Amino acid sequence: MKIIMLGVPGAGKGTQAKMIADKYHVPHISTGDIFRANIKNGTELGMEAKKYMDQGLLVPDELTVKILLDRVAKNDCENGYVLDGFPRTIPQAEVLDKALAEINDKIDFAINVDVPDENIIRRMGGRRACLSCGATYHVEHIPPKKEGICDACGKELVLRDDDKPETVGNRLDVYHKQTQPLIDFYNAKGILKTVDGTADMKDVFAAIVSILG
Ligand code: ADP
Ligand code: AMP
Repeated sequence: MKIIMLGVPGAGKGTQAKMIADKYHVPHISTGDIFRANIKNGTELGMEAKKYMDQGLLVPDELTVKILLDRVAKNDCENGYVLDGFPRTIPQAEVLDKALAEINDKIDFAINVDVPDENIIRRMGGRRACLSCGATYHVEHIPPKKEGICDACGKELVLRDDDKPETVGNRLDVYHKQTQPLIDFYNAKGILKTVDGTADMKDVFAAIVSILG
């Protein structure tokens, strides 16, 4: 099963993608997590990506597409995957479709986690991320057991630089200009499914499970 998660930054794509990955035994692939891991390790790719990420801009398609295609070619992707944060532009979606068509394959579902912009600024300010294992929490809605510490790996949680209010506005603008057109793109292919992302995370997940079967 090959699934794409769509939605504004902070809609809950990562939260739901992790739950889907657990239930359906497919890897959760987040291009944002891959970039953050590269930044943490000081790689050339990380240093290049950081220039864009800190401003709330998209990393150029050439860089992003390559890391994604390399990742989905790995053995653990044989039975599918859930993509979180990719594609974010029409050209990215087209490259992915083409690469899949070459192996007689296609995306099964594009899940749009729908949350209005008004809700997002509050959510992002409360998001806490573990840069070590990629887990995310929310100070009010999904708190860790011990404040500031990751339940999964015990490392320190941080407010991502790009979750600061001054950057979140930019990321929403970028989403509406560059990523939102993907809603029509996948709708035209008949695989778009929209869920109400303002509901409790368990209810959002139940709605997704009823779509995926
Ligand atoms: P995205 O991957 O779309 O950027 P995340 O999954 O990281 O979004 O979620 C953004 C923030 O909102 C996180 O702090 C997360 O814990 C919280 N969150 C996710 N789903 C819900 C929900 N249904 N209700 C309230 N908060 C949520
Ligand atoms: P995310 O963790 O998905 O919120 O992504 C964080 C940041 O990484 C984004 O704001 C972009 O700067 C960059 N990024 C992640 N995925 C992509 C992508 N598919 N295309 C371009 N930039 C991306």
